[in-house]
Amino acid sequence: MSEPAGRAPQPVDAKVLIGGEWYQKDDRLESLNPATGEVIGYAPLCNREDVELAVRAAREAQPSWAALPLDRRIGHLETLRGLVAQEGDALASLITQESGKPLQEAHFLEVLGTLDFITGLCKGAPAYLADRRVRAGNPLLWGKRHWVRRVPLGVLGVISPWNLPLAIPMGQILPALLAGNTVVFKPSEFAPLVGTKLAGLFHRAGFPPGVLNLVTGGPETGVHLVEGGLDGLLFTGSTGAGLQIQARLAPRLIPTELALGGKDAFLVLPDAPFARTVSGAAWAACFGTGQACTSAERFFVPTGMKDRFAAAVAAKVGSLRVGNGMEEGVEVGPLISPQQLERVEAHVQEAVSRGARLLCGGQRLPGPGFFFQPTVLLDVPLDCALMREETIGPVVPIAGYTDLDEAVRWINDSRYGLSASIWTADVERGLALGRRLAVGTVWINDVSYTHARAQLPWGGMKQSGSGRTHWLGSLHELTSIQLLGADRGQREGELWWFPYSSDGLDLARRIRFLLTEGLAGRLTNLIPFLKDLVKVRGTR
Ligand code: NAD
Repeated sequence: MSEPAGRAPQPVDAKVLIGGEWYQKDDRLESLNPATGEVIGYAPLCNREDVELAVRAAREAQPSWAALPLDRRIGHLETLRGLVAQEGDALASLITQESGKPLQEAHFLEVLGTLDFITGLCKGAPAYLADRRVRAGNPLLWGKRHWVRRVPLGVLGVISPWNLPLAIPMGQILPALLAGNTVVFKPSEFAPLVGTKLAGLFHRAGFPPGVLNLVTGGPETGVHLVEGGLDGLLFTGSTGAGLQIQARLAPRLIPTELALGGKDAFLVLPDAPFARTVSGAAWAACFGTGQACTSAERFFVPTGMKDRFAAAVAAKVGSLRVGNGMEEGVEVGPLISPQQLERVEAHVQEAVSRGARLLCGGQRLPGPGFFFQPTVLLDVPLDCALMREETIGPVVPIAGYTDLDEAVRWINDSRYGLSASIWTADVERGLALGRRLAVGTVWINDVSYTHARAQLPWGGMKQSGSGRTHWLGSLHELTSIQLLGADRGQREGELWWFPYSSDGLDLARRIRFLLTEGLAGRLTNLIPFLKDLVKVRGTR
């Protein structure tokens, strides 16, 4: 059962999981409930030695984990799935208490998302990870056999943000493990308790010691992990941190998946289904208190309909229920931190000072907790921070456009390229327009629903990241390729081996003619080729 609304849970003293053992530390970080400002727990602040210990444990566990048949690894994931289902209420309520999102979102986006993801992953993984027999397709290689294998990378680091503290790490840890890697996981310093609960589920599900290790801490712990001798890294977080990590890893050339920031556009066409588009706008900007990476953060609406549209969105957004996400019916929770509150406030104030019209909200709410009113602004200048930088808050900044090509240029004129949505009754037109947007995902008449669907890729272009995560295709990014080639070894040598001779040279030329000439040329060369072949073969 979930905690009753309003009652603070007892602060917990979390531990880290390294090599199958739980460890506590005196050096700890605090975890706050952003809806109340209260401390809900403590977690170890891991230093370089802790991280090294975790990487070592993961390295020791990796060969035997990779040697398990795939169906045994899938079996572990299925056991974990059972525990996530069983613990769904406890998980959702902890997520709400630590990240602030309304309980319903914790269920839909995190618990159900994770369950759905595990199901799709387990079903699809064998096809992605199986050895594949391939034909070389060249007659000179007849008699040889070839297989393409997927080989685990080794020890991977997974560093996560707080905004989807269950679904994001699960979407990366699980494919990494299924592919035969072992993992050291560092959750966000704003969600260490959810990270600890997640690690506890792996422990209870009977994953062998060292397969999943947990270290908690802030960015410094993240740096120790990045520098900890990993074989690959999956990082989700801000673009600034992603760029630093990439620079840090440059000398090591290890595979990285970077899922970074976004400034998602919401493009309304004149024929957009009005009621759905208005509801979609309110949700796209305010679910997760506007703190999802794919929250819509820039709205482009035809000039002729922008006033009507903005008024309808303001009516909807202005009536959203703001409060502690544990309370029934609350739709918008707190921001994650006082710093985030300041950032959102600064973006809104700058836009207003530059002439944007405030239609609703615009203020922080009195504490406790870090609440900001859901806000709608119209005629926001395009060069405001609110239209260019990640705001990460429940804000709908609207600009009018007269020329669709111009709106497309505005959307593409961004360092980010995570995702965008297009709202229109003409789906084919929307799809054609989507092809012109430089973003990793385009949704027509919906937003964000593709996260954690194993069949669908997730990721961005430009400074929104590299690689695709939370999907089956990431099994290929999380493995290296090994080609196995075999000859029966019955001949003394191959045509292209020593000794070299004029006959060998002639043979190479004849083969070229046979492969590239027209029919007449090929016929002319066939008999000389066979003669050369017999001569050269005789020397092997
Ligand atoms: P953040 O970059 O501050 O922190 C993310 C994680 O990285 C945390 O665990 C943090 O401790 C660690 N970290 C920070 N700096 C680091 C460094 N230099 N080296 C190693 N580790 C470091 O991000 P956040 O505030 O937790 O999350 C919000 C950001 O994440 C937003 O920009 C959002 O758009 C982005 N995000 C992207 C996706 C996606 O799929 N593209 C998903 C969720 C969030």
